Amino acid sequence: MLNCGALLTLFEQYETFALSTHIHPDGDAIGAELGLYFFLKKLGKSVRIFNTDEVPEAYRFLPSWDEIEGFDAVGGYRPEVLVVLDASALERIGTRLAKKLLPLELLINIDHHATADAFGDVNLIDAAASSTSELVYRLLRAYARREGVALEVWLCEASALCLYTGIMFDTGCFRHSNASAETHRVAADLIEIGDFAPDEVYRNVYEQVPVCKIRLLREVLGTLSLADDGRIASVYVTQEMFDKTGTGPDSVEGVANQLQAIAGVEVAFCVTELADGNAKVSLRSKGNVDVGALAAEFKGGGHKRAAGCRVEVPYLLAVEKLVARVHRYIRRFQD
Ligand code: AMP
Ligand code: MN
Ligand code: MN
Repeated sequence: MLNCGALLTLFEQYETFALSTHIHPDGDAIGAELGLYFFLKKLGKSVRIFNTDEVPEAYRFLPSWDEIEGFDAVGGYRPEVLVVLDASALERIGTRLAKKLLPLELLINIDHHATADAFGDVNLIDAAASSTSELVYRLLRAYARREGVALEVWLCEASALCLYTGIMFDTGCFRHSNASAETHRVAADLIEIGDFAPDEVYRNVYEQVPVCKIRLLREVLGTLSLADDGRIASVYVTQEMFDKTGTGPDSVEGVANQLQAIAGVEVAFCVTELADGNAKVSLRSKGNVDVGALAAEFKGGGHKRAAGCRVEVPYLLAVEKLVARVHRYIRRFQD
């Protein structure tokens, strides 16, 4: 495993950078990218960000979000260095983009997934970190320490806001078990340096929900089903529900988390019917069951308590398959 110092030396050696993150980017994905973007710019580097999917509405309050480019913008651009953030495998940035955005010199992978592949030429992976944004914060702190200057010399206000947003998102607003004492210290630093109001960040991310998403939620919660004496909770979302409510798969974000609130539930999951007829699964665990390992069995991945995968069967069959597999996992983790 590479340490921060060695990675920073590499950053200094090259001039042109591209950054990317996983498809359907979340708060950590966007926050970590932008956080690193501002730092590299401060270092005087030429840096561009390319994502397969657009920045979700909820993150369009972040500075420079609109500088993030799409697949079509890549053209013939070949950066010396490609930094992939928060993606447990290279294909997670989108198979087309992974093939097109080839670095001339170096592929760097910065990630915190338990199921992370060391696909980079250099890899900064720490599954104990709350988020990729926290890892980027550590990098910037290491740089400031090495230079013997205050952190805010290298971590600007804009970067602090983006990294805080990423940490807030991946810790479920500091509620999940990945929110350590260190994570809280990092957050405090970011609030001071960024000079923003944390409640405003929360409101931007979670309280700008379009009403169509709430209408979708009504449909989705109507499919709630409990299994295994109430230990497994599941819902599904169909293309018809998207059509009826004028929403799409992005609006499903957070639904599986909500099911965790149910007393007695150990594992909750949400199955989304995709346009191609296959299904995407979002899994959450409240206790010992390692849903990251479960998702990996379906060629997906994630963390012990939050993971996802795709399955190539119609959604109702996917629900059945998942209930059976979760049931086995619950037995296994009881021992
Ligand atoms: P989600 O359920 O989409 O919120 O994702 C929960 C966690 O699982 C995140 O850390 C994702 O990066 C990860 N994840 C979701 N889907 C996949 C997949 N198909 N392959 C690998 N990791 C995934
Ligand atoms: Mn992510
Ligand atoms: Mn993350």
